[in-house]
Amino acid sequence: MRKNLSDDEIKDTYEMIRSYHDKYLKQYGVKMPRLSGTKGFTKSALILIYLAQGYRNTRKVSKSELTEFIRGFYPEVNDVQQARHLGAQKGWFIAAGGRDNRDVDLQRGEYQLITLEKPYPGFHGHRVEETSDWENLKAQYGYRCVTCGSEEGKPNIHYSNTITKLQKSHKDPNKPLVSGNIIPQCQKCNRADRNNWVYDERGRVIKLANPSVIKRSDREVRWKVYKLLYEEFNGRNPLNDK
Ligand SMILES: [Zn+2]
Repeated sequence: MRKNLSDDEIKDTYEMIRSYHDKYLKQYGVKMPRLSGTKGFTKSALILIYLAQGYRNTRKVSKSELTEFIRGFYPEVNDVQQARHLGAQKGWFIAAGGRDNRDVDLQRGEYQLITLEKPYPGFHGHRVEETSDWENLKAQYGYRCVTCGSEEGKPNIHYSNTITKLQKSHKDPNKPLVSGNIIPQCQKCNRADRNNWVYDERGRVIKLANPSVIKRSDREVRWKVYKLLYEEFNGRNPLNDK
């Protein structure tokens, strides 16, 4: 049941969306797609307009219907991804069937614009992937501190008055806190000593990150370290080295 839209309908619907955007969505960092580019109307704007027809009485629209509509402007298009991107990534509250149809009953490949008065759930103006990666990471660890095992939202294993809040913690504090170098630790484990150690993905200490930790070790251990390094560096005097 594809509907052709005239240029005027397209422009009017775009202005309608813009007024809601100004009032409700801009403040969350949702970006209004440009209406026109060098090739005429942009695909993102067209998809948004198509889904917003008859707002607030929007309807479910299948991906094939969207594709057919877009082909009226871009005949070479055979797979329209914009509806999905506009939702989870760009922050427009467009539910996608088979994925996050928590509010409406949608089949896989169906989309529906839910509202123009709220952003997509969980959208805070920055990339949604960053947030969901952190959620995924915590889920992989069963929502527990990798080091002490305290569970998020429950009392800390060692400090019963502290409710566990998991934080992004460095595996190696000398490297940036980016994907691959993050483990979930409770606020207690993350605070104590965190810059002194390198952890593996199971939260076990595998290396020193701060050599001055050696000073805390027993004299016998320090002597062994000294001997080990003396041998490794052939007795070179470090004070002569720049
Ligand atoms: Zn902990």
